[in-house]
Amino acid sequence: MRADLIERAAARQRERAEAALLRRLRTVRDSAAPWIVLDGRRLLSFASNDYLGLAAHPQVREALCAAAARWGVGAGAAHLLGGHRAPHAELELALAEWTGRERALLFATGYMANLGVLDALLAPGDVCVQDKLNHASLLDGARLCGAELRRYPHADAGAASRQLALRPHAAALLASDAVFSMDGDLAPLADLAALAQQQRATLMIDDAHGLGVRGARGAGSLAQAGLSARDAPILMATLGKALGTLGAFVAGDAALIEALTQFARAHVYSTALPPALAAATLAALRLAQQGDELRAHLRALIAQLRAGATARGLRLLLSTTPIQPLWLGSATTAQAWAAALEALGFYVPAIRPPTVPQGQARLRIALSAAHTSGDVERLLDALATLQQQHATPMNRRARLTHPSPP
Ligand SMILES: *Cc1c(COP(=O)(O)O)cnc(C)c1O
Repeated sequence: MRADLIERAAARQRERAEAALLRRLRTVRDSAAPWIVLDGRRLLSFASNDYLGLAAHPQVREALCAAAARWGVGAGAAHLLGGHRAPHAELELALAEWTGRERALLFATGYMANLGVLDALLAPGDVCVQDKLNHASLLDGARLCGAELRRYPHADAGAASRQLALRPHAAALLASDAVFSMDGDLAPLADLAALAQQQRATLMIDDAHGLGVRGARGAGSLAQAGLSARDAPILMATLGKALGTLGAFVAGDAALIEALTQFARAHVYSTALPPALAAATLAALRLAQQGDELRAHLRALIAQLRAGATARGLRLLLSTTPIQPLWLGSATTAQAWAAALEALGFYVPAIRPPTVPQGQARLRIALSAAHTSGDVERLLDALATLQQQHATPMNRRARLTHPSPP
């Protein structure tokens, strides 16, 4: 007999629940960064990708309201069918200038941008080589376009090179996150650029977590690494993280942007972002460009968290970015820590499989310029309390048998 799809999904869901891996949707009833209200309690949140604290900035809000008064809310159509408004065009120009690329093209979300690029450029018979820990949208994009997907061990440029060499005659895209979203560590960008050149592969970098945060004027990870459009012809980044709004863009040469305009179905067949959102993003972009003080404050918080964690024997993964994961290993432990932190007034979500590999559950601590050094100190004290509570003899033994952090 034919399986019922909804029953089958429900069975999978029960398996997830039994493995303590169920995802739960919760509603935030109020927020004033970095604070949120959840289930009637005010919590200090370390969960937001609003790294510069721009999502609620007065100038960004004002730009949104002013543009909504002028343009209304919805764009009403896809970019190619009358939805492309002056604020979109202005934002694309500013993004291209900021990232040092000839042109930029907006997408509704980062997920769509990655699907769009891979779908536009790759075809069956091509090869797409990706870091194992790349964002889900890059991996899904490779599946969508039908190219052969090869995943190399995390941040291993040598392995990437060997995988490209296996298919020397296939057209090839080498794609990597610049900052890995669940680990906070960095891709070996210069090595990837060099090997892409050697192997005649096209390099695509997803800088969702680097734009606004890294590089001079916040221009991102490629700027920080001194890599031009020649080294990394395809730059993708999102607007929903450090810029605090929503959407994404791809930047590169005119030839790339023209091709995406023609062939990226996620661009062609999707409604343009609200023009007011583009105007708000432009205001956020200007603030990010002038955000050296915000970035310096953020760097100081990162240093404070890392030094404090070391002093307290807490195991943070190696990361220099605002993403500072605390390694816990088992999903149950991570869940227990997240719940205990919440009882102490903090929101720090547990990240469990399948978002991260089996046995690598963690708390993902995300810092923002909206935090104070007092906020970080309070979090450190709470983590140290949990560390002591959980260091019962049994736990200590269990911890020794866990695999080490990658
Ligand atoms: C968040 C993220 C995306 C997806 O962007 P959205 O705009 O949220 O859809 C893509 N890539 C990376 C690395 C991300 O962190």
